[in-house]
Amino acid sequence: MYHFKHRVCEFHSKAPVVIVSGVSKRFCQQCSRFHELSEFDDVKRSCRKRLAGHNERRRKALRLQLMKNHCRKSGESKSSKKLQQTDLSI
Ligand SMILES: [Zn+2]
Repeated sequence: MYHFKHRVCEFHSKAPVVIVSGVSKRFCQQCSRFHELSEFDDVKRSCRKRLAGHNERRRKALRLQLMKNHCRKSGESKSSKKLQQTDLSI
């Protein structure tokens, strides 16, 4: 099999669509390789898998924020800080 992913010229790494063996693909800047177009959202240059990872991190941050607000309401700001640290290390 021809591993073209190691030789990506500037043109192909920036092209929105590259036809590889009759399949429409796009170069993923996050993985440094080509994926099928179905892996991408719209004109994004990184695949959904990577974007999902970003979203996961964002959800975690949101959860921390919610926890912070919750603890602030119950007036335990010091113990809430400990809780946050525990959550981060998971
Ligand atoms: Zn990718």
